[in-house]
Amino acid sequence: MSFPVPVRSLGRPRLLAGPLAGGPEPTGEQVVEIAAAAGIRGRGGAGFPLAVKLRSVTSGFVIGNGEEGEPASVKDRYLLRERPELVIRGLELAARAVQAERAFLCLSDPVAVSRLRELAPEAVDVVRVPAAYVAGEETAVVRAVGGGPALPAAKPPRPWESGLDGRPTLVSNVETLAQLALAVHLGPEEYRAAGTEDSPGTFLVTLSGAGRGPVLYEIPYGTPFGDLAAFHLGSTTGVTGVVAGGLAGGLLPASALALPLTHAAFADAGSVLGCGAFVLLAGECPVGVAAGIARFLDEENAGQCGSCVKGSAGVADVLIRLTEGAAAGEDVERLERWGEGLAGRGNCATPDAVSALVGSLFRHHRERVWTHVNSGCLACAPHDFRIRLEENP
Ligand code: SF4
Repeated sequence: MSFPVPVRSLGRPRLLAGPLAGGPEPTGEQVVEIAAAAGIRGRGGAGFPLAVKLRSVTSGFVIGNGEEGEPASVKDRYLLRERPELVIRGLELAARAVQAERAFLCLSDPVAVSRLRELAPEAVDVVRVPAAYVAGEETAVVRAVGGGPALPAAKPPRPWESGLDGRPTLVSNVETLAQLALAVHLGPEEYRAAGTEDSPGTFLVTLSGAGRGPVLYEIPYGTPFGDLAAFHLGSTTGVTGVVAGGLAGGLLPASALALPLTHAAFADAGSVLGCGAFVLLAGECPVGVAAGIARFLDEENAGQCGSCVKGSAGVADVLIRLTEGAAAGEDVERLERWGEGLAGRGNCATPDAVSALVGSLFRHHRERVWTHVNSGCLACAPHDFRIRLEENP
């Protein structure tokens, strides 16, 4: 069965090209050196250098994180369903690099679970978790593999300090692991032939919105966002904004199309590439878009920290009331204060995502927010941006 979402590449495909035949068998130390020389950065969200992570874990465990809770992203499920050998190869290389006692793959997608249980070698355990936005957070993954609930834990300690059974544990996104397999196969120089100095190689992007069904792309880092959007839509004339980087990058105006797709460029714009999921907007009310995201985060949060129970829920409530024309000026003032206060609170990054959302809404659309109080907005409705894989042809 082909993947439910169309898959394309801009430039020469790497991850999409198929299984890697042959290739070197480096020692663990050589794997770390290759990861460092290739400049591999994490593909799960934070873009953290993989070599630094590999160097911070000695003996213990490795967990491939394939729990793709981001609602507008499909890349991890693509790799797990269609390129599982690449993920397993990367997991084995990472396990060698950190001298792991055992390796695990953690995911919820039932199609991928069946495939991986057929293919995974004896040294790799496939652990199925319930699908949830917070289940892919690194401490939630460690807890789930250890037999507990897939819920984030307080930090520190981080898993690399004390993870599974209190031992150092490397948790790495499955695309990051596939990239490691690719870098070992290609060698660092060839790996760096695509991408930029800051963001080497290619990466997977899920692009949706603006009236087109989702498409999964492999593109070189540094590709102008506008070129990708124009390839996707035919023209960017009607694009009015974008939800960037999964839910962590907030709302950006249409001027984001001028940015190159690199970690540095998006950081300078006050956003992130995150997991590489972008929702293009074409005239939707930004308050309605923000309300839809906030409602999702409120429904999906784990309900175990005050920042979500009170803060994220309060943000969602005000945004939804704004879309209904039922919010007052003091609600808007409270909304902005809450947004500023939520960053860095709670056990996971959900309050950060809420904070980035509210901050970007006021930064780029302050007048539009106040219009909702003063005269209402007839076009407004909470936006649903979730990609439901099995519904796509
Ligand atoms: S911050 Fe929110 S989503 Fe994260 S663990 Fe706490 S309650 Fe759950």
